[in-house]
Amino acid sequence: MAAVENVIKALEKNGYEVKFFSKGTEAVQYLVEKIQNQTVGFGGSGTLAQLGLHEKLAEKNVILDADYPGPGETFRSTARKSIQTDCYLLSANGLSEDGIIVNLDGEGNRIASSVYGHKKVYYVIGTNKIEKDLERTIWRVRNVAAPKNAALLKVKTPCAKKGDRCYDCDSPERICKGLLINLKKIDSTEVEVILVDEPLGF
Ligand code: SF4
Repeated sequence: MAAVENVIKALEKNGYEVKFFSKGTEAVQYLVEKIQNQTVGFGGSGTLAQLGLHEKLAEKNVILDADYPGPGETFRSTARKSIQTDCYLLSANGLSEDGIIVNLDGEGNRIASSVYGHKKVYYVIGTNKIEKDLERTIWRVRNVAAPKNAALLKVKTPCAKKGDRCYDCDSPERICKGLLINLKKIDSTEVEVILVDEPLGF
């Protein structure tokens, strides 16, 4: 893997603001200090869950997290509302050494929210998600991240059963529908990448 400094430079060249932390706890502290008195949308993410960011940010913000709908709400109603929050947090399924961020989605709320509707988007990404180039990153997203997420969600797909690779299935419960490749930062939104030198998520 390229030195982390080179990945940071590549992300900056692609238009992103970047913060690097060697520990997840430092990243959490940074975000807790930075995000206050805001509405905050969450994209489903093992990384954010691992860092306990929902609970931490809920102390001083209003959180809309489709995985935890409030009373009378559903996943979809919460996801729809979270498209218009002040800021949005998610991770990436893969990041290439040349600073390309890749995400794969089934419902679509996470990839939609990552590119439009917010003043600011924060990606929190562990260095375990970094791959050499775009081709290898897409391979990782489809054959490593997606099968692990499928297993976690307990969907009825061949990858969830075997956990070894993608079978490009036609299962009704397939979780892979939309692949979003961010070649550069999008124009409409401020985007900050919080890179953490720890294995986070899948
Ligand atoms: S396409 Fe199907 S087999 Fe491949 S990772 Fe997605 S859910 Fe699993």
